[in-house]
Amino acid sequence: MIYDVIVVGGASAGLTAAIYSSRLKLKTLVITKDMGGQVLLNPEIKNYPGFLSIRSLDLMRKFEEQALNSGGRDSI
Ligand SMILES: Cc1cc2nc3c(=O)[nH]c(=O)nc-3n(C[C@H](O)[C@H](O)[C@H](O)COP(=O)(O)OP(=O)(O)OC[C@H]3O[C@@H](n4cnc5c(N)ncnc54)[C@H](O)[C@@H]3O)c2cc1C
Repeated sequence: MIYDVIVVGGASAGLTAAIYSSRLKLKTLVITKDMGGQVLLNPEIKNYPGFLSIRSLDLMRKFEEQALNSGGRDSI
């Protein structure tokens, strides 16, 4: 498989990069040790715009879901 973009890290920064690259229809691969990163060290996020409070796991699942759905299932 040939990729246009390879992102290292499956947390806030990496998944944001993947959202943007897949939106541009660039074939994107995310290589990561985990999905979620440091955010998951804290059970709850209270200062994230758009949410008064959200469970860290739920927020990072939303990041992952958005990355997977940004450019079509086969773009990432
Ligand atoms: C206890 C705690 C509470 C926090 N609370 C808040 C909060 O309430 N609100 C807030 O906005 N921020 C909070 N933060 C800060 C927030 O977690 C970080 O700003 C954010 O996680 C940074 O995201 P990142 O993607 O840059 O890095 P990271 O979250 O560190 O993610 C790095 C990613 O890269 C992967 N990776 C690392 N090395 C490799 C490798 N060699 N090969 C492959 N993959 C690799 C990791 O597995 C991970 O997926 C908190 C942080 C901590 C520790």
